[in-house]
Amino acid sequence: MDGESFRPPNNPASAPINATPATVGCPHCAAQMAPKAAFCPACGWSMTPVPPLERAVAAAGYLPLIPAAVILFLPTYRRHLFVRFHAWQSIFLWIVFLSLTVVAMLLSNLAASSLMAFLLLGILASLGMLFLWFVLSLKAWQGERFALPFFGVLAARMR
Ligand SMILES: [Zn+2]
Repeated sequence: MDGESFRPPNNPASAPINATPATVGCPHCAAQMAPKAAFCPACGWSMTPVPPLERAVAAAGYLPLIPAAVILFLPTYRRHLFVRFHAWQSIFLWIVFLSLTVVAMLLSNLAASSLMAFLLLGILASLGMLFLWFVLSLKAWQGERFALPFFGVLAARMR
């Protein structure tokens, strides 16, 4: 010993050998998740690319009720959770919107004096639904598992 500290030989085996990380980051919102996660738990981003056909089908599923119902019955999409999620979300959304429309129409018949108010509300609700429809179709087309607060929770429970 001459005072100099002993340097261990540069051993390549001591370098980190963990090639697979414990978690992976979402490219969309940077949330961490298990490497094998199919979707980001935070924002719903698809971690495996969704093929264009399935994205188109999922987007078309937001047309009122019939396309989504057809998608859910088609054996082709029985195992495509991405497509089915959007189809279910579409169905729940349209059922609630159409039910509210019917209720509003009945109420406006009863209270004919406030017809203008109902008309105005109806126009606002329709515009809101149009906007929602546009956003949801776009998100589906982008391959995102975009979940609405209430409808998304319901849709996630369906298969
Ligand atoms: Zn995310």
